[in-house]
Amino acid sequence: MNLKINFLDAGYCTHPECMTIRGGRLKSKIYPAMFMHIEHPKHGHILYDTGYSRDFEKETASFPNKLYAMLTPVILKDDGCAKGRLKKLGVNPEDISYIIISHFHADHISGLKDFKNAKFIYLKKEFVRVSKLKGLKALVNGVLPGLIPKDFEQRAIAIDENYKYKNYNSDIEAFFEYSYDIFGDGSIVAVDLPGHSEAQMGLYLRQEDKEYFLVADSCWLSESIRKNIGPNFMAKLITFNNKEYVRTLDKLHHLYIKNPNIKQVPSHCGEVFRELVKDCNWDTKDLNGI
Ligand SMILES: [Zn+2]
Repeated sequence: MNLKINFLDAGYCTHPECMTIRGGRLKSKIYPAMFMHIEHPKHGHILYDTGYSRDFEKETASFPNKLYAMLTPVILKDDGCAKGRLKKLGVNPEDISYIIISHFHADHISGLKDFKNAKFIYLKKEFVRVSKLKGLKALVNGVLPGLIPKDFEQRAIAIDENYKYKNYNSDIEAFFEYSYDIFGDGSIVAVDLPGHSEAQMGLYLRQEDKEYFLVADSCWLSESIRKNIGPNFMAKLITFNNKEYVRTLDKLHHLYIKNPNIKQVPSHCGEVFRELVKDCNWDTKDLNGI
Protein backbone atom coordinates (compact mmCIF):
# COMPACT_ATOMS: atom_id res chain seq x y z
CA MET A 1 0.00 0.00 0.00
CA ASN A 2 1.44 3.33 -1.00
CA LEU A 3 0.87 5.49 2.08
CA LYS A 4 2.34 8.98 2.18
CA ILE A 5 3.32 10.01 5.71
CA ASN A 6 4.17 13.51 6.90
CA PHE A 7 5.59 13.83 10.39
CA LEU A 8 4.57 17.24 11.74
CA ASP A 9 4.55 19.16 15.00
CA ALA A 10 1.98 21.42 16.64
CA GLY A 11 3.75 23.31 19.42
CA TYR A 12 5.88 22.05 22.24
CA CYS A 13 6.14 22.12 25.99
CA THR A 14 9.09 22.04 28.37
CA HIS A 15 9.92 19.75 31.32
CA PRO A 16 13.05 18.95 33.32
CA GLU A 17 14.63 15.97 31.51
CA CYS A 18 14.77 13.92 34.72
CA MET A 19 10.96 13.80 34.73
CA THR A 20 10.90 11.81 31.50
CA ILE A 21 13.78 9.35 31.92
CA ARG A 22 15.45 8.02 35.07
CA GLY A 23 18.94 9.48 35.45
CA GLY A 24 18.09 12.43 33.17
CA ARG A 25 19.34 15.97 33.84
CA LEU A 26 17.54 18.59 35.90
CA LYS A 27 17.83 20.98 32.96
CA SER A 28 14.63 21.79 31.12
CA LYS A 29 14.18 20.08 27.79
CA ILE A 30 11.82 20.71 24.87
CA TYR A 31 9.18 18.10 24.12
CA PRO A 32 7.57 18.58 20.69
CA ALA A 33 3.92 17.64 20.24
CA MET A 34 4.13 15.60 17.06
CA PHE A 35 1.21 14.47 14.96
CA MET A 36 1.13 12.63 11.66
CA HIS A 37 -0.63 13.29 8.38
CA ILE A 38 -1.21 10.12 6.40
CA GLU A 39 -2.42 10.11 2.81
CA HIS A 40 -4.18 6.87 1.98
CA PRO A 41 -4.87 6.16 -1.72
CA LYS A 42 -8.49 5.16 -1.00
CA HIS A 43 -9.39 6.80 2.33
CA GLY A 44 -7.83 10.22 1.77
CA HIS A 45 -6.29 12.50 4.38
CA ILE A 46 -5.95 10.99 7.83
CA LEU A 47 -4.39 12.40 11.01
CA TYR A 48 -2.89 10.57 13.94
CA ASP A 49 -3.51 13.00 16.84
CA THR A 50 -3.37 16.80 16.45
CA GLY A 51 -0.88 18.21 18.98
CA TYR A 52 -1.67 21.59 20.60
CA SER A 53 -3.98 24.26 19.18
CA ARG A 54 -5.39 27.65 20.16
CA ASP A 55 -8.23 25.76 21.87
CA PHE A 56 -5.70 24.54 24.45
CA GLU A 57 -5.01 28.18 25.35
CA LYS A 58 -8.73 28.94 25.60
CA GLU A 59 -9.38 25.90 27.80
CA THR A 60 -6.50 26.71 30.14
CA ALA A 61 -7.12 30.46 30.40
CA SER A 62 -8.61 30.26 33.89
CA PHE A 63 -8.31 28.14 37.04
CA PRO A 64 -8.33 25.27 37.74
CA ASN A 65 -7.33 24.30 34.14
CA LYS A 66 -4.70 27.06 34.15
CA LEU A 67 -2.63 24.77 36.39
CA TYR A 68 -2.14 22.44 33.43
CA ALA A 69 -0.57 25.21 31.31
CA MET A 70 1.53 26.34 34.30
CA LEU A 71 2.95 22.86 34.91
CA THR A 72 3.70 22.25 31.25
CA PRO A 73 4.33 25.65 29.63
CA VAL A 74 3.27 25.43 25.98
CA ILE A 75 4.80 27.35 23.09
CA LEU A 76 2.64 27.53 19.98
CA LYS A 77 3.30 29.91 17.11
CA ASP A 78 0.49 31.59 15.14
CA ASP A 79 0.47 29.06 12.30
CA GLY A 80 1.95 26.31 14.45
CA CYS A 81 -1.21 24.29 15.11
CA ALA A 82 -2.22 21.24 13.03
CA LYS A 83 -4.62 23.29 10.89
CA GLY A 84 -1.89 25.81 10.02
CA ARG A 85 0.78 23.16 9.45
CA LEU A 86 -1.50 21.26 7.05
CA LYS A 87 -2.51 24.39 5.12
CA LYS A 88 1.17 24.92 4.37
CA LEU A 89 1.18 21.49 2.76
CA GLY A 90 -1.88 22.40 0.68
CA VAL A 91 -4.31 20.34 2.78
CA ASN A 92 -7.51 22.08 3.91
CA PRO A 93 -8.97 21.20 7.33
CA GLU A 94 -12.23 20.13 5.60
CA ASP A 95 -10.29 17.52 3.62
CA ILE A 96 -9.35 15.48 6.69
CA SER A 97 -11.56 12.38 6.59
CA TYR A 98 -10.39 10.62 9.78
CA ILE A 99 -8.52 11.49 12.96
CA ILE A 100 -7.07 8.48 14.71
CA ILE A 101 -6.74 9.37 18.40
CA SER A 102 -3.96 7.67 20.38
CA HIS A 103 -5.48 8.75 23.72
CA PHE A 104 -7.33 11.77 25.08
CA HIS A 105 -4.60 13.80 26.80
CA ALA A 106 -4.85 17.48 25.85
CA ASP A 107 -1.53 17.57 23.96
CA HIS A 108 -2.91 14.96 21.54
CA ILE A 109 -6.47 16.16 20.94
CA SER A 110 -6.37 19.96 21.21
CA GLY A 111 -7.01 20.40 17.48
CA LEU A 112 -10.05 18.12 17.11
CA LYS A 113 -12.50 21.02 16.75
CA ASP A 114 -10.58 22.38 13.74
CA PHE A 115 -11.56 19.44 11.53
CA LYS A 116 -15.32 19.57 11.01
CA ASN A 117 -15.64 16.67 8.52
CA ALA A 118 -13.37 14.17 10.25
CA LYS A 119 -14.59 10.96 11.81
CA PHE A 120 -12.87 9.99 15.05
CA ILE A 121 -11.27 6.56 15.46
CA TYR A 122 -10.23 5.56 18.98
CA LEU A 123 -10.15 2.71 21.49
CA LYS A 124 -13.57 2.27 23.06
CA LYS A 125 -12.47 1.56 26.63
CA GLU A 126 -10.37 4.73 26.78
CA PHE A 127 -13.18 7.05 25.71
CA VAL A 128 -15.69 5.38 28.06
CA ARG A 129 -13.32 6.17 30.95
CA VAL A 130 -12.43 9.68 29.82
CA SER A 131 -16.01 10.75 29.10
CA LYS A 132 -16.88 10.20 32.78
CA LEU A 133 -14.11 12.52 34.02
CA LYS A 134 -15.18 16.01 35.06
CA GLY A 135 -13.59 19.06 36.75
CA LEU A 136 -10.50 18.46 38.86
CA LYS A 137 -10.60 14.70 38.32
CA ALA A 138 -10.35 15.28 34.56
CA LEU A 139 -7.54 17.78 35.07
CA VAL A 140 -5.37 15.46 37.17
CA ASN A 141 -5.86 12.84 34.45
CA GLY A 142 -4.50 15.26 31.80
CA VAL A 143 -7.94 15.59 30.20
CA LEU A 144 -9.68 18.87 29.28
CA PRO A 145 -13.25 17.83 28.35
CA GLY A 146 -13.88 21.17 26.58
CA LEU A 147 -11.47 20.08 23.82
CA ILE A 148 -13.79 17.27 22.75
CA PRO A 149 -16.25 18.44 20.05
CA LYS A 150 -19.94 18.42 21.06
CA ASP A 151 -20.83 16.09 18.18
CA PHE A 152 -17.95 13.72 18.94
CA GLU A 153 -20.12 10.65 19.43
CA GLN A 154 -22.04 11.19 16.17
CA ARG A 155 -18.70 11.16 14.34
CA ALA A 156 -17.18 8.33 16.36
CA ILE A 157 -15.78 5.01 15.23
CA ALA A 158 -14.92 3.13 18.41
CA ILE A 159 -12.57 0.17 18.16
CA ASP A 160 -12.76 -2.72 20.57
CA GLU A 161 -9.29 -2.88 22.16
CA ASN A 162 -9.60 -6.65 22.62
CA TYR A 163 -9.85 -7.34 18.92
CA LYS A 164 -7.25 -9.80 17.68
CA TYR A 165 -6.14 -9.17 14.12
CA LYS A 166 -3.13 -11.21 13.22
CA ASN A 167 -1.12 -12.17 10.18
CA TYR A 168 -0.16 -8.68 9.13
CA ASN A 169 3.27 -10.08 8.70
CA SER A 170 5.27 -7.80 10.97
CA ASP A 171 7.55 -8.60 13.92
CA ILE A 172 5.14 -6.56 16.04
CA GLU A 173 2.64 -9.44 16.05
CA ALA A 174 4.87 -11.55 18.27
CA PHE A 175 4.86 -8.95 21.04
CA PHE A 176 1.42 -7.35 21.08
CA GLU A 177 -1.67 -9.40 21.63
CA TYR A 178 -4.33 -6.97 20.48
CA SER A 179 -4.45 -5.23 17.15
CA TYR A 180 -6.98 -4.07 14.60
CA ASP A 181 -6.70 -3.54 10.85
CA ILE A 182 -8.44 -0.16 10.59
CA PHE A 183 -9.24 -0.08 6.86
CA GLY A 184 -9.13 -3.82 6.22
CA ASP A 185 -6.20 -3.55 3.82
CA GLY A 186 -3.29 -4.11 6.23
CA SER A 187 -1.94 -0.57 5.68
CA ILE A 188 -2.80 0.93 9.11
CA VAL A 189 -2.99 -1.38 12.09
CA ALA A 190 -4.06 -0.18 15.55
CA VAL A 191 -2.14 -1.77 18.43
CA ASP A 192 -3.15 -1.32 22.06
CA LEU A 193 -0.25 0.02 24.18
CA PRO A 194 -1.74 0.24 27.69
CA GLY A 195 -0.13 1.81 30.76
CA HIS A 196 0.31 5.52 30.07
CA SER A 197 -3.47 5.59 29.79
CA GLU A 198 -5.92 2.73 30.30
CA ALA A 199 -5.87 1.92 26.59
CA GLN A 200 -3.63 3.73 24.12
CA MET A 201 -3.73 3.28 20.38
CA GLY A 202 -0.36 2.82 18.73
CA LEU A 203 -0.28 2.64 14.92
CA TYR A 204 1.67 0.30 12.72
CA LEU A 205 2.15 1.80 9.23
CA ARG A 206 3.63 -0.03 6.30
CA GLN A 207 5.08 1.69 3.27
CA GLU A 208 6.64 -0.13 0.29
CA ASP A 209 10.10 -0.12 1.86
CA LYS A 210 9.59 1.10 5.43
CA GLU A 211 7.73 0.14 8.59
CA TYR A 212 6.76 2.67 11.27
CA PHE A 213 5.35 2.06 14.71
CA LEU A 214 3.82 5.21 16.20
CA VAL A 215 3.90 4.55 19.94
CA ALA A 216 2.40 7.83 21.24
CA ASP A 217 3.27 8.29 24.95
CA SER A 218 4.45 4.74 25.68
CA CYS A 219 7.63 6.62 26.53
CA TRP A 220 8.88 10.15 25.98
CA LEU A 221 12.29 9.39 24.51
CA SER A 222 13.59 6.86 21.98
CA GLU A 223 16.47 6.30 24.39
CA SER A 224 13.94 4.74 26.75
CA ILE A 225 13.11 2.09 24.14
CA ARG A 226 16.76 1.36 23.32
CA LYS A 227 17.80 1.07 26.98
CA ASN A 228 14.48 -0.08 28.47
CA ILE A 229 14.53 2.78 31.01
CA GLY A 230 11.28 4.43 32.07
CA PRO A 231 10.61 7.84 33.62
CA ASN A 232 11.29 8.74 37.26
CA PHE A 233 8.89 8.36 40.17
CA MET A 234 7.31 11.82 39.61
CA ALA A 235 6.10 10.85 36.16
CA LYS A 236 4.60 7.68 37.62
CA LEU A 237 2.08 9.89 39.38
CA ILE A 238 0.52 10.78 36.02
CA THR A 239 0.76 7.23 34.63
CA PHE A 240 -2.55 5.38 34.57
CA ASN A 241 -1.09 1.93 35.36
CA ASN A 242 2.61 1.76 36.06
CA LYS A 243 2.86 -2.04 35.84
CA GLU A 244 1.29 -1.99 32.37
CA TYR A 245 3.51 0.95 31.39
CA VAL A 246 6.63 -1.05 32.26
CA ARG A 247 5.28 -4.12 30.39
CA THR A 248 4.54 -2.09 27.26
CA LEU A 249 7.97 -0.41 27.32
CA ASP A 250 9.62 -3.81 27.80
CA LYS A 251 7.82 -5.13 24.70
CA LEU A 252 8.88 -2.10 22.64
CA HIS A 253 12.47 -2.62 23.80
CA HIS A 254 12.45 -6.27 22.77
CA LEU A 255 10.81 -5.41 19.46
CA TYR A 256 13.66 -2.92 18.90
CA ILE A 257 16.25 -5.62 19.69
CA LYS A 258 14.55 -8.05 17.29
CA ASN A 259 13.97 -5.57 14.47
CA PRO A 260 15.58 -2.12 14.76
CA ASN A 261 14.41 -1.37 11.20
CA ILE A 262 10.86 -0.84 12.41
CA LYS A 263 11.04 2.87 13.17
CA GLN A 264 9.41 3.43 16.55
CA VAL A 265 8.08 6.96 16.99
CA PRO A 266 7.26 8.31 20.48
CA SER A 267 5.16 11.47 20.00
CA HIS A 268 7.38 13.79 22.06
CA CYS A 269 10.90 12.55 21.30
CA GLY A 270 13.23 15.34 20.11
CA GLU A 271 15.64 12.87 18.50
CA VAL A 272 12.89 11.38 16.32
CA PHE A 273 11.57 14.88 15.68
CA ARG A 274 14.93 16.02 14.27
CA GLU A 275 15.07 12.96 12.05
CA LEU A 276 11.50 12.88 10.72
CA VAL A 277 9.95 16.35 10.89
CA LYS A 278 11.14 18.00 7.70
CA ASP A 279 9.57 21.43 7.85
CA CYS A 280 9.81 22.70 11.40
CA ASN A 281 8.79 26.32 12.02
CA TRP A 282 10.69 26.83 15.26
CA ASP A 283 13.52 29.24 15.91
CA THR A 284 16.95 27.65 15.78
CA LYS A 285 17.60 28.70 19.37
CA ASP A 286 14.50 26.71 20.45
CA LEU A 287 15.79 23.64 18.65
CA ASN A 288 18.95 23.73 20.76
CA GLY A 289 16.79 22.88 23.74
CA ILE A 290 15.81 19.49 22.35
ZN1 LIG B 1 -0.33 11.36 27.17
